[in-house]
Amino acid sequence: MLTVHNLTYTYPETTTEVLHGLNFTIAEGEIFGFLGPSGAGKSTTQNILIGLLKEYAGSIAVMGQELRDIGQDYYEHIGVSFELPNHYLKLTARENLNYFRSLYSGPTRDAMEVLTMVDLADDADKSVAEFSKGMKIRLNVARSLIHSPRLLFLDEPTSGLDPVNARRIKDLVLAERARGTTVFVTTHNMTVADELCDRVAFITNGKIGLIDAPATLKK
Ligand code: ADP
Ligand code: MG
Repeated sequence: MLTVHNLTYTYPETTTEVLHGLNFTIAEGEIFGFLGPSGAGKSTTQNILIGLLKEYAGSIAVMGQELRDIGQDYYEHIGVSFELPNHYLKLTARENLNYFRSLYSGPTRDAMEVLTMVDLADDADKSVAEFSKGMKIRLNVARSLIHSPRLLFLDEPTSGLDPVNARRIKDLVLAERARGTTVFVTTHNMTVADELCDRVAFITNGKIGLIDAPATLKK
């Protein structure tokens, strides 16, 4: 699904390289985790993989094509949940989702279907301005699933959630994998990485130290 070779990145108008030659592959149907402390380069990597940050060095092959050569069509196939939720606050949860549904050319899921998946069905018609941080994160995850993407990117999807809602998000990700979805997930939480991921990459200071299955890493 994804092959990253020697990925190096420096933010525009800065001089410090923040990613130093990352190498990893993600198999189709795999949940692949990036585990590392704050500032390690997890969000930067995700933002490159979703085409938001350009001008990277190295190569990224995704769904058989070099990322640089893929057009807007890429967004029909990937789902993204950002680290910081970015919703239209004056709109309700349902209105936010229906707006995003209208941007896709293919089939989309009903807003209530995905809201139920993240336990927000009862809050569908509340304006998002009234949502707590945890509710906004759950709405973020709901939005990333609205077009049933083949490849899902989740940046810290359980951060700020209570244990019940964190469990719900983890179960939802596992259910997506069961449908054949490939998942890239970042976290600074070892338990999340352990419970969710088929393989985990340890990332610190823009370098991957080790990649393996959680059980092997624990041994
Ligand atoms: P993580 O998600 O693992 O916490 P980030 O990818 O956000 O880490 O950050 C990696 C490094 O890139 C940090 O040193 C951070 O300060 C730097 N960085 C992040 N965003 C920007 C930006 N927009 N401009 C310049 N440097 C940035
Ligand atoms: Mg981050």
